[in-house]
Amino acid sequence: MYSKRSIAVIVGVLISLASGALFVKNKSTGVQVANTSTTPKQILLVPLGSSVSRAMVDEAYQRIRSIIPGAQLLQREPMPQVAYYKPRNRHRADSLIHILSRRAKPHQIYLGLTNQDISTTKGSYADWGVMGLGFCPGRAAVASSFRLKSKQSFWKVAIHELGHTAGLPHCPTPSCLMRDAKGGDPTAEEKAFCNKCKTVLIRQGWRL
Ligand SMILES: [Zn+2]
Ligand SMILES: [Zn+2]
Repeated sequence: MYSKRSIAVIVGVLISLASGALFVKNKSTGVQVANTSTTPKQILLVPLGSSVSRAMVDEAYQRIRSIIPGAQLLQREPMPQVAYYKPRNRHRADSLIHILSRRAKPHQIYLGLTNQDISTTKGSYADWGVMGLGFCPGRAAVASSFRLKSKQSFWKVAIHELGHTAGLPHCPTPSCLMRDAKGGDPTAEEKAFCNKCKTVLIRQGWRL
């Protein structure tokens, strides 16, 4: 015979199973998140321009693939001339994003990777140089190594922009990959996503 208590536990488990609301604990963060088994959006990486280094692209690809299942590296493409901004001899990041996002199907996110300078409009600045830009959330982003002190940090810029496409805003934690660069290069201090940002990404199927 079951005691009243064990029946209550069994009923509780059945209700949880029926509603699909079982929770899992993330090993590294200790944070409980809903076990919804979300499939992440498909990340498609596109090297832009002839001079972006293969080693730098490969490192970003390997790092992204290890945390976002199904990421793919596509063929290198020329920088789209339509995004060229002659007064500053650089390319507009917002134009690049528009071009890439038009290709993206609803389950896809395109990430352009380049070593050339890119810019966007920021407040009163008509053309402000940036390391990367991503719609938040969005279907496309672009990352550039041009402003990096150390090109080894390129993967951090790439993953930061993907974080924006997944809906993450900038984060106040100095060691978090979602930190705001504020016109500088803080990537040396960035180590990983903080627990709060991780929780959002894990819900979207990222393996962190
Ligand atoms: Zn950002
Ligand atoms: Zn964070």
